[in-house]
Amino acid sequence: MLAYLNGNYLPLDEARISPMDRGFLFGDGAYEVIPVYSRRPFRLQQHLERLERTLAALQLANPLSKEQWAEVVQRLVDDHGSEDQGVYLQVTRGAAPVRDQAFPRPAVPPTVFAYADRLPTPSAELLATGGTALTAEDFRWLRCDLKTVSLVANVLLRQLSAAAGCTETILLRDGLVMEGSASNVLVVQDGVILAPPKSNLILPGVTYDVVLELATANGIPTQVRPVAEAELRSADEVWVTSSTKEVLPITRIDDAPVADGRPGPLAARMNALYQDFKNQVMRR
Ligand code: PMP
Repeated sequence: MLAYLNGNYLPLDEARISPMDRGFLFGDGAYEVIPVYSRRPFRLQQHLERLERTLAALQLANPLSKEQWAEVVQRLVDDHGSEDQGVYLQVTRGAAPVRDQAFPRPAVPPTVFAYADRLPTPSAELLATGGTALTAEDFRWLRCDLKTVSLVANVLLRQLSAAAGCTETILLRDGLVMEGSASNVLVVQDGVILAPPKSNLILPGVTYDVVLELATANGIPTQVRPVAEAELRSADEVWVTSSTKEVLPITRIDDAPVADGRPGPLAARMNALYQDFKNQVMRR
């Protein structure tokens, strides 16, 4: 598998970075995962804009222009060759000679890494039964809107549901639904999609945006507003969305069924709209 590292293309298993890299020492970096369908990146500009936003918040200059990123992504995709892929991008503050939390002075070159992998979309079986979730109190920091590689809180929160054999951990803060450990959460009540608003406490999901756009374009009512834990537990449907999970219905939460415990009709409709939209975009 081909990787891009600091301007060079090389086999992934030959790519090497320093143990002094601040990504390794501090989680001091940004990342993105871009889904690729029929060998074409989906919503690439939105992913690159989110990367730009994270880098700006980390006070890191974007090492590549949008055109250069697009070129790197396409070269990795073409080399990988599968129809559907997930391209991973990461930029860290680089390797400094000494371990000090403060930014290196003088600055060191960033470490820029990318590779293409398979896209682990939900199986037909999982879509048919729906996924399962545990809830947990969200103990992450107050900049969950940034896609940084400092993911240890997400790792611990996700492991709670992984250890219980569940698909995702749904995070609650002060009695409100935030998002999943690696996804956004949408709740359906009486035919209306309820969407927790973007804030510093959730990641602005590219898939979340696509789903809300598709709902609006197709006359499905949406409400972007805080969603209470009680609404999650009494919902008609609960979905998690992400570039890899797409629109996945959740049919059990903390061992209680969501409504009748089967994927709901709106999830099926939204999935059909999402798949159609993907196909349309890919044909353009
Ligand atoms: N929230 C978190 C914490 C995530 O890690 C992800 C996955 N990137 C998402 C939401 C969904 O974002 P997207 O739809 O852009 O994949």
